[in-house]
Amino acid sequence: MTELASFPFDNSFAREMEGFYVRWQGARVPRPEVLRLNRDLAAALGFEPSALAGAEGAAVLSGAQAPEGALPLAMVYAGHQFGGFSPQLGDGRALLVGEIVDPRGRRSDLHLKGSGRTPFSRGGDGKAVLGPVLREYLFGEAMHAMGIATTRALAVVTTGEEVDRNGYEPGAVLARVAASHLRVGTFQYFAARGETDRVRQLADYAITRHYPELAGRAERYLELFRQVRDAQAALVAQWMLVGFVHGVMNTDNTTISGETIDYGPCAFIDRYDPKAVFSSIDRFGRYGYGNQPAILQWNLARFAETLIDLVAPADSAAGIAQLTEELKVFGDTYQIAWLGGLRTKLGLGAAMPEDEDLAEALLSIAAEQEVDFTRLFRALGDLVRGKAAPARGLFRDPAAFDAWAEGYRARIAREEERDGGDAAARAQAMDRVNPLYIPRNHKVEEALAAAVAGDMGLFDRLLDLVSHPYAPQEGVESYALGAPEGAAPHVTFCGT
Ligand code: AMP
Ligand code: MG
Repeated sequence: MTELASFPFDNSFAREMEGFYVRWQGARVPRPEVLRLNRDLAAALGFEPSALAGAEGAAVLSGAQAPEGALPLAMVYAGHQFGGFSPQLGDGRALLVGEIVDPRGRRSDLHLKGSGRTPFSRGGDGKAVLGPVLREYLFGEAMHAMGIATTRALAVVTTGEEVDRNGYEPGAVLARVAASHLRVGTFQYFAARGETDRVRQLADYAITRHYPELAGRAERYLELFRQVRDAQAALVAQWMLVGFVHGVMNTDNTTISGETIDYGPCAFIDRYDPKAVFSSIDRFGRYGYGNQPAILQWNLARFAETLIDLVAPADSAAGIAQLTEELKVFGDTYQIAWLGGLRTKLGLGAAMPEDEDLAEALLSIAAEQEVDFTRLFRALGDLVRGKAAPARGLFRDPAAFDAWAEGYRARIAREEERDGGDAAARAQAMDRVNPLYIPRNHKVEEALAAAVAGDMGLFDRLLDLVSHPYAPQEGVESYALGAPEGAAPHVTFCGT
């Protein structure tokens, strides 16, 4: 365990990638205080948690003070936002403090969000406010607990400032940890400027950092594309399998590492609805729940465009052809990941040809009858144990479900006949992948409103539940339910 002052930050991005960032320092804030520290994560990174929680930790995690050995910087990137290209974005309110190599040898970025203006701030104030910062903390931990690749919050620092967001709100800085902050938009920035050498330098850096097995291979840029495609296909399949809607899948929010990043107007669906959209600014539903795989493929097409000259330097038609072939594979890669995940949620072992129809049929009656997605899959564990009531009770017209359940039981029976297995073990395995506790929209709003008013109790309880999503806890039944009947539709806002 290491004290902060002597913590060995590494700075490979600062060292090797000049021209991809500006060196920068965070703003001084009146009263930086560590409001919440992710102690498990801190310890896993090799920090002494108490060193982060004190005054020095607050100064460093707010961005006001650079830890010894760190070379903080703001990264430049571009991106397609809601389909339109912005040639210059970048860390407008964020800082890459440095890289941490944890005791297991894994390298992560320590990054601050809300640390003040930078040369990339455009009209923004460079700040963040407490509600959205806590939201990112909560969602990141929920995703992590469900085994979904994600950036994670290390700490939330309150600044002692009031920040104007259509009314004043307490200012805060999120310190987060990510495998890296390389985005599709980082590639786009240099490709749009015709700076092929820089795109190549970035691709080589990404390979060294995330896909080192590709280094030195002749086809490494095409293989980089394949790796990012597969990592992102697996990621979005996982989003779909837990009902997560990112809400702002711009290319600058699509990572090269395959991690979920930038939790803004995100939400979990309650009733199953492929058209579900929560973000107030997503008026046409571009980033709605069911559109996410197609949007990811669109974002990957933008990534592919940046790699054409690398894949075939002397013959862009050949480069386009090869990348197009690879892009087409996305549909199958995604489908395999999604169906495999559904099979696990349904407690099915080896694949059988009828599985896709079986899964689709369930989702189709769930959509028709507006059934809660999370509760439905959890209740199927009970069904397998011989208790049909919890699942049946979710349907207005249980007859449709009963007919489906008959086919489901028959499918399980065929599997047991062939491969053995017993109901108890099957149901237990299902309970390990079908969460009981997710960040329910109304519970999130309630917890954040209380937190902003100074009471962290509901936030801490919700954080604890979503950090242990599978094991039932006593006395918190309402956390496993959807919004109360008659509640207004949930709307999320981007004003983070
Ligand atoms: P996001 O929607 O958080 O992914 O951000 C999109 C772009 O806007 C990024 O370049 C951010 O750095 C920038 N940005 C968002 N909020 C602010 C802010 N309050 N001040 C400065 N830049 C911001
Ligand atoms: Mg972003």
